[in-house]
Amino acid sequence: MRALVKTTPGPGLELIDVPEPTPGPGEVKIRVLRAGLCGTDVHLHDWDDWAASVVRTPMTIGHEFFGEVSDIGAGVTSVQPGQRVSGEGHIVCGMCRNCRAGRRQLCIHTIGVGVDRDGAFADYVVIPATNVWTQPDDLDPDLGAVFDPLGNATHTALSFPLAGEDVLVTGAGPIGVMATAIARHVGARFVVVSDLSPFRLDLARKAGADLVLDPSRTSLREAMDDLGMKEGFDIGLEMSGAPAAVDAMIGTMNHGGRIAMLGLPSDPYPIDWAKVITHMLTIKGIYGREMYDTWYAMSAMLQTSAALRDAVRSVITHRFAAVDFAEAFSTVRSGECGKVILDWSH
Ligand code: NAD
Repeated sequence: MRALVKTTPGPGLELIDVPEPTPGPGEVKIRVLRAGLCGTDVHLHDWDDWAASVVRTPMTIGHEFFGEVSDIGAGVTSVQPGQRVSGEGHIVCGMCRNCRAGRRQLCIHTIGVGVDRDGAFADYVVIPATNVWTQPDDLDPDLGAVFDPLGNATHTALSFPLAGEDVLVTGAGPIGVMATAIARHVGARFVVVSDLSPFRLDLARKAGADLVLDPSRTSLREAMDDLGMKEGFDIGLEMSGAPAAVDAMIGTMNHGGRIAMLGLPSDPYPIDWAKVITHMLTIKGIYGREMYDTWYAMSAMLQTSAALRDAVRSVITHRFAAVDFAEAFSTVRSGECGKVILDWSH
């Protein structure tokens, strides 16, 4: 089968032929139809310090995918060949304290599909049956491929009640735009989105933001004035990983405001702790998706809201054949895109 492989430690990826994987006991083999590119895949491609510290080559990368079950291992009863599925890319140990308490997203032994074991940029991927999320037969494959980042957006956006609240989203990458759509869907009052890219601000506007701004041109205070907001944001969804965005967010939260942080910074950075403390802010780190409450929540929201489905679909701006992966990676690097999908179906 074809697979996009990090063959040796160092920059680059190769599309090569490798043996098809066999599902072991409790595992499921999936024919990949679509796979999404994530920032992680760019880090793996470029082989930065993080990638070099975690990946053992050869490794097939990719963890956002949708496909069809082609085979099941011994003991699997929850899915059958032919079913359409997405996959949770975090594999947990099942035995640590958090796993045994049912808080699997907090597992201390989590390993990543496409990072620690072979991933989904391939014709076939194998994952544990417990990580398989069964989808409706008629689900648009592109939509099925974005459940992983949509899950990041859902986990972050639903961390705090948003109904009637003023919400600030910093960073209009694919996940920030999806979080914007979810905040709109669940009844926020104002949703304000900041990003440095006009292309991405436009995506956020189309996904339901009330006001979008480039913080290098317009301050959040001006945005608040424009909307008649007097006190500050109730909820912050940090989706950029940019220290300047975090600083601006902390500076414009109302007292008692709550911040859910998804954006991953590349380096440690200073925080105005005096403001966090005296304004009594809550800051919650978000990693991955809740297993599996987030998956139920996003499936339910998509099932009942055509507007949310359209908004999430609008985040998918590019699709490339798998063989054109180099162009797909260049498109992600350009920033002139939302979610970029690889088509592995032919
Ligand atoms: P992305 O890199 O495509 O988007 C980040 C956006 O932030 C970009 O559009 C960028 O222009 C914008 N940005 C940069 N500086 C800014 C500033 N000062 N103010 C406002 N916006 C600014 O990423 P994505 O795929 O949408 O993911 C969002 C973030 O979440 C990234 O940092 C990513 O690494 C992280 N992430 C975390 C998890 C997790 O589980 N915690 C999972 C996936 C992604």
